[in-house]
Amino acid sequence: MSNYWNPFVQKLDPYVPGEQPKDKKYVKLNTNENPYPPSPKVTAAIKEAVNDQLRLYPDPNCDELRKKIAEHFEVKPSEVFIGNGSDEVLAFSFMTFFSAENPVAFGDITYSFYKVYANLCSLSPKIIPLNDDFSLPVDAFCEPNGGVVIPNPNAPTGRGLPIDSIRRILDANSEHVVIIDEAYIDFGGESVIPLIKDYPNLLVVRTLSKYSSLAGIRVGFALGQKALIDGLNTVKNSFNSYTIDRLALAGALAAIDDDAYSKGMAQQIIATREQTIKRLENIGFTIIPSQSNFIFASHTEVNAEVIFHALRDRGVLVRYFNQPRISNYLRITIGTDEEMDKLVEALKDILN
Ligand code: PMP
Repeated sequence: MSNYWNPFVQKLDPYVPGEQPKDKKYVKLNTNENPYPPSPKVTAAIKEAVNDQLRLYPDPNCDELRKKIAEHFEVKPSEVFIGNGSDEVLAFSFMTFFSAENPVAFGDITYSFYKVYANLCSLSPKIIPLNDDFSLPVDAFCEPNGGVVIPNPNAPTGRGLPIDSIRRILDANSEHVVIIDEAYIDFGGESVIPLIKDYPNLLVVRTLSKYSSLAGIRVGFALGQKALIDGLNTVKNSFNSYTIDRLALAGALAAIDDDAYSKGMAQQIIATREQTIKRLENIGFTIIPSQSNFIFASHTEVNAEVIFHALRDRGVLVRYFNQPRISNYLRITIGTDEEMDKLVEALKDILN
């Protein structure tokens, strides 16, 4: 912190991303990345863009990609907004739809970036405690709260939310925008994209980071009725009209085209997740039901922070959140079967 910073910035409490270690090679299960490489068609498309296109600015409107996404999800191109990772899409959404008069509600155990965006937008968010089993208290989200943001499935718990519950929240909040953050939806959840035509207040946020294994090129998008998307474009064009670069555009186009490849990876991850849950339950873990590419696990006898450090010492990185209600849980990303073998071996060693 420095006195050169303006007073507002001095008070910001920024997000701390999961560790990207450089000291040695870890089994890296801490940031919900996809353990498999992206489609070879994506890599080829990016290489082609490197050779041909770097001299030119990218299309600021991402017309081709918006068209491709619109076809894929059966919406109109005017109902698609593209951003630099879904984090940027979420940041623009907070700026566009929420205000001091209409702040935002989210759960106490949720994606921790929401609180950061709320601070950045000078909002006083309403923080709603989840139920004891980390399910969402739907009634509390139906009260007048301003806007709403919910990850489905939730992070870091992995729990999914039934579509009927989201419908109730949308009905009760018809005056305000409800953002459903579907970063992890392709690992077993049910998307609300088909509801967009019925709900002018619904914005669905997606990412290619997890499902398409493209965290490195930063492509996220939002789907919603045109009036919402126009608002996002107004903010984006007041900030950096070029949004995503040519390499990201080329990679994203190829990824949407090769959806079958992403689907195959997701199916493998789901199968590995189900096996891992059984193996961890056998050694004394309790796991929150997960529809994500990660699990939220707590051990009946040994403290999560102790396990976190012991795993790190053994070359396995998972995520530990030192915060109320979840300080005895570990969030473990589902890796390859081999990586999960290493995790289970290390855990057995620690627990013996
Ligand atoms: N939403 C949720 C719930 C997440 O966990 C993440 C990843 N940390 C994101 C959004 C952001 O993903 P990205 O910016 O890589 O698209």
